[in-house]
Amino acid sequence: MPCLNYLQLFITALILSNRPTETIEPVAATSNQRPATGMMKASDLIKPYFIENRAKILIGLLSLIIVDLLQLFIPRIIKRVVDDLTAFELDGWQLLSYSLFMIGIAIFIGVFRYIWRRCLLGTARRIEEGLRNMLFGHLQCLSAAYFDGIKTGDLMAHATNDIQQIRMATGMGMVALNDAIVLGLASIGFMAYINVTLTAFVLIPMPLIVVSTRFFSRKMHHRYQTVQAAFSDLTEVIRERFAGIRIIKAHHRKEEEAARVEAASRNYVDMNLRLVKIIGSFFPMMLLFSNLSLAIVLYLGGRKTIMQDITAGDFVAFISYLGLLTWPMMALGWVTNLIQRGRASLDRINKILQTVPEIRDSQDAVTIENVQGQIVFDNVSFRYDSEPYQEKKATLSKIHLHIEPGMVLGVVGPPGSGKSTLISLIPRLYNIHRGRILLDGHDIRTLKIQSLRSQISFIPQEPFLFAATIRENITFGDRQIPEDRLKKALRDAALYDTVKGFADGLETVVGEKGVILSGGQKQRIALARCLLRDNAILILDDPISQVDLETGTTIINTIRKLAGQKTIIIVSHRLSAVSYADRIITLDLGHITESGTHQQLLDSDKYYAKTYHLQEIEEDLDAA
Ligand code: ADP
Repeated sequence: MPCLNYLQLFITALILSNRPTETIEPVAATSNQRPATGMMKASDLIKPYFIENRAKILIGLLSLIIVDLLQLFIPRIIKRVVDDLTAFELDGWQLLSYSLFMIGIAIFIGVFRYIWRRCLLGTARRIEEGLRNMLFGHLQCLSAAYFDGIKTGDLMAHATNDIQQIRMATGMGMVALNDAIVLGLASIGFMAYINVTLTAFVLIPMPLIVVSTRFFSRKMHHRYQTVQAAFSDLTEVIRERFAGIRIIKAHHRKEEEAARVEAASRNYVDMNLRLVKIIGSFFPMMLLFSNLSLAIVLYLGGRKTIMQDITAGDFVAFISYLGLLTWPMMALGWVTNLIQRGRASLDRINKILQTVPEIRDSQDAVTIENVQGQIVFDNVSFRYDSEPYQEKKATLSKIHLHIEPGMVLGVVGPPGSGKSTLISLIPRLYNIHRGRILLDGHDIRTLKIQSLRSQISFIPQEPFLFAATIRENITFGDRQIPEDRLKKALRDAALYDTVKGFADGLETVVGEKGVILSGGQKQRIALARCLLRDNAILILDDPISQVDLETGTTIINTIRKLAGQKTIIIVSHRLSAVSYADRIITLDLGHITESGTHQQLLDSDKYYAKTYHLQEIEEDLDAA
């Protein structure tokens, strides 16, 4: 392949491999989820893929070597043709046979190039796929506390950029290393075979190619990182402006926001121009160095040809070998960068994979079935902080609670008092620091997490919807669920008429995070999801926070109908939603400050009673 083509291939590969990774924070292992002691070596992660694909790798490397050798063969043919031509020893048929021979070589090169690309780059793709699946599978096992301490953007970068760097190191790294050694050494060998002195002179500028490729590929990598960062910034700025278009219009901020987009756009162009400058310098620099060698060949080689030290054919072949040598020299400079970056990425991935989930099944964990639904909080204390436990700073402190099967417990309290935290401890989203939580008499830490969670229907405060249809969001893609059960869940969640009003009904695609739906509709979809699962325990975190009074009443009535059949824990800022509960507790700064029935709490005239009366007045005003 001519030198310029190699340059283009190199730049393309470099650009593809250069995604911002070095800016990624090292993976934060929260204090509760530390990397395992006696950590596995990072290289052990990819070793199985190499072993499993050893036949393919071998075939790929052999094909790569065959391509290299076939390329090295071409200058030999050219030499023969030129020598025979200068001696006037060629006839038309011989010329034709040489031409056909060249075509044959080109076909073989094409076939073997296809094979090595499939085998070597294909294996690198398999490694990429396997690592990504492994990483995602492992991340899913890590506890909520892990995700509290890490940015989603960093996780995305690990799952995409780091893994891509590993692919580049294992795929193109292997190719570049092979070509640097095989094609490089063989070209030098063939050149030395023609003339050793000429080869020694021609090699003088070659270290410049190696060193400057190393230098430029690093620089390009860094500049490409800034281009990527500028691009992310630009897309984020535009995305945010579209998402907040109503606010922009309402506050007459069109000019300011347009200027913000223009600034981000200018920055993106500036960063690209910086990259173009370095790529623009790299091309001429490489041409200069390779032409330096060419100039040496023309002068010294030409003289040797005149002096008949070498033949005219040797002279032409020598120039062809020189063309072949440029790529291996560049590959030599590039391969160390590729491998260094791949190693660093592999270390980062390994660190995540070695992070032991804080919440995991104990060795003797048991499965729980046919749950009655009795939940006991026995002197439970909890704090989010990872520092050593301090009682006074606890998010929840000395909680004692006895919830009988079929009972409805209302949880109220000012914002930040610990309501959501309290209910998140039941499915063991976090581990408690002190005390015990019992389900039907079993400490939940002794139960298999999967079996514990499968007994609980949980609706978080901000329900998450996937960018799928309403049906898929409710059924989690389970097509076996009978239509009448689905309809009942929709009716119970006060969603039936709303869905019927949509042109596509249950097949309506809700958009990213359910963007086309109102907050209340999302909450009701989450409720329908839970009602469909029909678990013994139903936990709802403010299920009517975003619906109007009428819809809220419908939802509460549905939940009330379930009373006695399921254990229900309902957090609500609207006290009328819990007034029917068998028992209501008020939390304040992580302590239970009130406990009793609606009437008992009204009589005690504390937080519950005061808030209830205030909300009554508000509701009357709304109704009026
Ligand atoms: P509520 O549901 O009553 O509004 P929360 O249980 O959400 O209260 O929060 C209780 C306290 O815990 C608050 O001070 C809040 O800032 C803190 N908190 C909540 N979630 C987290 C978290 N994931 N990491 C650290 N602190 C948290």
